Amino acid sequence: MIKIIDKGGYSLTNHRVNYRRAVLWLGQTCNQRCYFCYFANIMEEKGHPEKPFMSLEKAKEICKTLRFKYNNNSIDIQGGEPTIYPHIFELMKYCNEIGLKPTLITNALVLDDIEKCKKFKEAGVFDFLISVHNLGEAHDEVVKVPGSHKRQMKAIDNLMELDIPFRFNIVLTNEVLPNLQLIAGLAEKKGARACNFIAFNCSPGQEGKRNKDNVTLYSKIKTVLPPVIDYLDEREIEVNLRYLPFCLFEPKYRKFIQDTKQTIYDLHEWEYTGRLWTQDKPQRRAADPLDEPPNLFKYLLERREGESRDIARFFEENPHKYEESMSVKVKEPTKQLTDIAVKVGDYKPLFFNNNLGYDENLTIYDYAYIEFREISACTYRYKKLDKCNSCEITGICDGFHKDYVEFWGDEEAIPEKSIGKKIYDPRYYMKDQMKVVEKEEYNWALPQGEGN
Ligand code: SF4
Repeated sequence: MIKIIDKGGYSLTNHRVNYRRAVLWLGQTCNQRCYFCYFANIMEEKGHPEKPFMSLEKAKEICKTLRFKYNNNSIDIQGGEPTIYPHIFELMKYCNEIGLKPTLITNALVLDDIEKCKKFKEAGVFDFLISVHNLGEAHDEVVKVPGSHKRQMKAIDNLMELDIPFRFNIVLTNEVLPNLQLIAGLAEKKGARACNFIAFNCSPGQEGKRNKDNVTLYSKIKTVLPPVIDYLDEREIEVNLRYLPFCLFEPKYRKFIQDTKQTIYDLHEWEYTGRLWTQDKPQRRAADPLDEPPNLFKYLLERREGESRDIARFFEENPHKYEESMSVKVKEPTKQLTDIAVKVGDYKPLFFNNNLGYDENLTIYDYAYIEFREISACTYRYKKLDKCNSCEITGICDGFHKDYVEFWGDEEAIPEKSIGKKIYDPRYYMKDQMKVVEKEEYNWALPQGEGN
């Protein structure tokens, strides 16, 4: 059953549609130094080409392509730290002019100045996604800036005063676990619309930085989080757990888990036809000319071509997966998706490993997004364990971070076997999760006629 809760200016709903949000990395320049930052190594390296901020012209050109080629209608702007980008106000005005609703992913340090917050509001910031990594001196310690917690709290009060929406990002480090309930209380008291609890994820920019001492044991997370989730959920604050194995939590908490394939249905995550282009180096380096924007469907077909031997071998060993691929009936996509200028062409679903498979509710875009997430994040950063072979939800779960298994082993994995069939629709659990839809998105992200 579809539920909608009107929160005034936004709604919470369990109605799921595909995302339309873009992402832009302006350059890895930041006024903090968090040890778990995806870009920690880049920031440390003098002269790294991704470090300096790009020109306003380049940033605008990227936004224009994301809006008009990929039909994105909102954008997460990040730096490093986007609030210290010298042209941030002009860029936000431009985003609003072309129909990209801007969010800034920020540590909020400079928002302790209310005059600056007023300028952000005038320039058309839609909301801020604030990194609350701990409280008090523990926060200062993590981000390596004395006084940063106090400044962040002042910033949040400023945003409340000016009625600018905000959400929280919290990285699940060992240090923050004892304070999660207090942060949930802060979210309620100050009016955050959502709390994202993010595992200390691995990224190429952190090579050599993750180890047994700083990567939190999943079992600790599993013990501490459930009451915090209950608290937030009861107070109608969206909760997301990003990139954790589903089997860590009992089924009632699995709707909150957003692994790589669930992000396809999260309006605050990054749409992949456009991201395939923006995440590439030329679009992240100030000095490089922009690349030609690619077509995701063509990219997937070319990649299959490159892997054709492995794929043929898999089908020889698993002929039923080939037959399953050949008999797929694809669900009709919504207009929102067919408006993407990149064309589907000859792309068809192909289930070339055991994590891919048929579900009657998936459109051609769902299949492409799922395949892309499978071959990008799932193959490189995550690991399916031997135990996962017998798990019915392996098709929608990322598994464990690759290096995590080296540090901590696979004891915590408990394959799901009670469903009675293999699941391939990433919405299997999250169809019951209540998520924020902003009023600007009601005409396409809520069931027709609702919230208008
Ligand atoms: S696929 Fe593996 S990690 Fe994911 S829920 Fe199943 S057993 Fe756990």
